Amino acid sequence: MKKVDSFNEVISEHFLNLFNFKFKTMKMNLRTIVGFTLAGTLILTACQSPNTAKQESKRPNIIYIMSDDHAAQAISAYGGIFDSIAPTPNIDRLAHEGILFNNVFCTNAICGPSRAAILTGKYSHVNGYYKNESGGQFNSDQWTFPEELQRNGYKTALVGKWHLGSEPKGFDFFKYHSNAGQQGSYWDPEYNENGKIVSEKGYATNLTTDFALNWLRENGKGNDPFCLLLQYKAPHRPWEPDEKYKDLWEDIDMPYPATFNDDYKGREKTAGDTDMNMGSFNRRDMKLNAPENMSAKERRDWMTYGNNREEQWKPDENMTDQEAREWKYQTYIKDYLACIRSVDDNIGRVLEYLEENGLLENTVIIYMADQGFFLGEHGWFDKRFMYEESLRMPFIMRFPEQFQANTTNDDIITNIDFAPTILEVAGVEAPEEVQGRSFLANLKGNKPADWPESMYYHYYEFPYWHHVQPHYGIRNSRYKLIHFYYNVDVWELYDLKTDPNELNNLIDDPAYTNLISDMKAEVQEKMKYYQNDKSLDEFREISDKDFGNIVH
Ligand code: CA
Repeated sequence: MKKVDSFNEVISEHFLNLFNFKFKTMKMNLRTIVGFTLAGTLILTACQSPNTAKQESKRPNIIYIMSDDHAAQAISAYGGIFDSIAPTPNIDRLAHEGILFNNVFCTNAICGPSRAAILTGKYSHVNGYYKNESGGQFNSDQWTFPEELQRNGYKTALVGKWHLGSEPKGFDFFKYHSNAGQQGSYWDPEYNENGKIVSEKGYATNLTTDFALNWLRENGKGNDPFCLLLQYKAPHRPWEPDEKYKDLWEDIDMPYPATFNDDYKGREKTAGDTDMNMGSFNRRDMKLNAPENMSAKERRDWMTYGNNREEQWKPDENMTDQEAREWKYQTYIKDYLACIRSVDDNIGRVLEYLEENGLLENTVIIYMADQGFFLGEHGWFDKRFMYEESLRMPFIMRFPEQFQANTTNDDIITNIDFAPTILEVAGVEAPEEVQGRSFLANLKGNKPADWPESMYYHYYEFPYWHHVQPHYGIRNSRYKLIHFYYNVDVWELYDLKTDPNELNNLIDDPAYTNLISDMKAEVQEKMKYYQNDKSLDEFREISDKDFGNIVH
C-alpha cells in the first residue's frame, strides 16, 4: 500500500479506493449506495473523532494458517488412527479454544485451484484457475479478499507457499516459495521476497514461520489491524521431515486404514483406474539414493521411476506385491506425519508469540489445509477425488471474543465461503460477485434458514497427475452423487451414514431410483446456480486445454 502521512489521508485514500473499486465492479445497486453512504458517514466521523478512530483500531487481526495436503485424519483433534501415535497438540489447542468444523469441503480438491477459490470466493470456472498441470497462472488482477482487507486498512502479508504462478497482489509484504515451479523445497528453499529472489538456509517450515514472526514483530502492534497468510509447503510431496524427526517412529509399524486393501469392486473404471496407489510411489518418495556415476538426467529418471502403473517397482524383488505396498505405506506415512510434527511445533511458536505480545485475544486464528489427502485409504496417496478423505478440509477457527470455545460445527461449508466470512469478521462487505456466503452467523447460533444443505464439486485435471477421471457431483449431510465423465460415463451414489468409507456404489440399486433422480436434478440446479451448466464436451475441453504452466 502507498505510504501516506496522516490518518486523515489514510482514511481518504481508503474511501477513494473503495469508491473506485465499486465503480469498477459495476455493482451500483441500492445496497451499495446505502453502503457508500454509511461508509462515507463512518469515515467522515472517523476523520473527526479520535474516539471512533480508536474503535476502528479494535478490528480483529486475522492469522490464516494453511498447510498443503494436511488431511483431517492426521489432526488429533479430529481423531482417527494416528491420534495417539502422532498427536498435534498445538493445532488441537486451537480446536479446544475455538470451533472444529466437521463438514468443510473443497470445491476442486487440488492445490492451486483450491487456493484460487479461497482467495476469490468463487468456483474454478469463474476465477479461471482449474488445474495445476497446464493450469496456467492465476489472474492476480481479479478481486481477492486480502486485497479487500488491504483496501480497508488492514496490513497484509503472505508468507510461504503461493503456487499460483502470478505475482501476489493485495499484500504489503510477501515472501513465497519460488523454486521448483513455486512448489518450493523442504531444505534450503528460495523465496520471492517482494519481487526479489533470495536463497535461505534451513528447513522450510521453520524458515517460513521465522519470516512470519519477523513480519509480526514489525507490523503486529500498530493501530491498524493485520491479516497474515501463513502458508506452509508441508506436508506436500516429497514429504521430507526435519532431521530431528526423521526417525520418530522407526521402531513401530503404523496402523493401516480400514480401506487399505480396497478391491474397487463396483468402481473399476473410476477408483480402480488411477496412478495413485501405493505401488505408484517413486524412488524419490521412498528416499532411495541413486547409484553413483549417473548423469543428471539418468539420476532424475531413476529417482522418479515408478510414477505410473507400468513402472511400479519393489525395493526387494523377493517381496510379494502386498509386502511392497505395505513397505511403501510405512515409509510414506511416517515421513508425512513427521512433516506435520514440524508444522504443529511452528504453530506453537506462533501461539506463543501472540500470547507473549498480548495479541491472542483480538486475533482470529484459522487453521486449514488446501484440501484433504488420502493416507492409505482406498490404497492411495494424493487427493483430487470427491471421496471424503480429499473432499474434506480440516478447518478450525479460534476467536474467543466471539466464538464459544471447544465447540464443533456440522454445517455444509465450502472453500468459497472463507473469503466472505473473513471479511465479515473484519466488518467489510464482500462484493456481490463473490459466490460464497459468510458463515459467521452460523457460528453465533443464527444459521440462516436458507443455508445450503448440499455442496457442488467439480474436478477437471486429466490425465496428469495420477489419472483421476474428471468429475462433478453433490454431497449433502447423508448422500453423495458423483458423475465421472471424461472418457467414461459412470455415476456413483454413496450413503455416508451406512457406508462412510464409500465402498458400496448404490447407483444401480432400485431402492434408490427416486433419490438418484432427485439428486441428478439437484446437481443440474447447482450447476445453473453457479453458472457451470456447460456441456460435457465443453468440460472436456477444459481438461484438454493447455493454459500454460507456472514459470519459475
Ligand atoms: Ca494441496
